[in-house]
Parts: sequence; C-alpha cells; structure tokens
Amino acid sequence: MNNKKSLKLIGETFGDLTVIGRIEKPENIKTDIPYWLCKCNCGNEIVVSGESLRNGFTLDCGCVRKIKSSRPEIL
Ligand SMILES: [Zn+2]
Repeated sequence: MNNKKSLKLIGETFGDLTVIGRIEKPENIKTDIPYWLCKCNCGNEIVVSGESLRNGFTLDCGCVRKIKSSRPEIL
C-alpha cells in the first residue's frame, strides 16, 4: 500500500469541490492516475482525476462555470 500520499486528498477542497473518496478509475481510462469522487458546494457529486484537481482544471461540477469568463481579471 503506497497510496498514502494520494489518500491525503480526501477532505481537501479545490475551489468548490471537496474530495470525499477515491474511486476505481472508469474502465475507458487507460492512464494510471487516481480518480476522486468530489462533492461540489452546490450538492452535486462528480468524479475528477487527481491531475485536474491538482492543476486547478476542475474547481467545481460545472455549476459556476458561467462565472469564469475568458476575460482577464483586472487587478
Ligand atoms: Zn456545483
């Protein structure tokens, strides 16, 4: 069992997502990256790859995508 590092993700939050557990990767996925079941603040549960979480590609179930515009933020 060398999953200690990745299991640390459980309970972590990424944007609106909270990691609630690790799942078996979908059958059609060939890569060896872990997949996680995450709960969005809106109540939806989605499955996200560990990479997407770490890289910030997936920060919600899609419900707040409309807030994220392609417009650069003016500081
Ligand atoms: Zn959501």
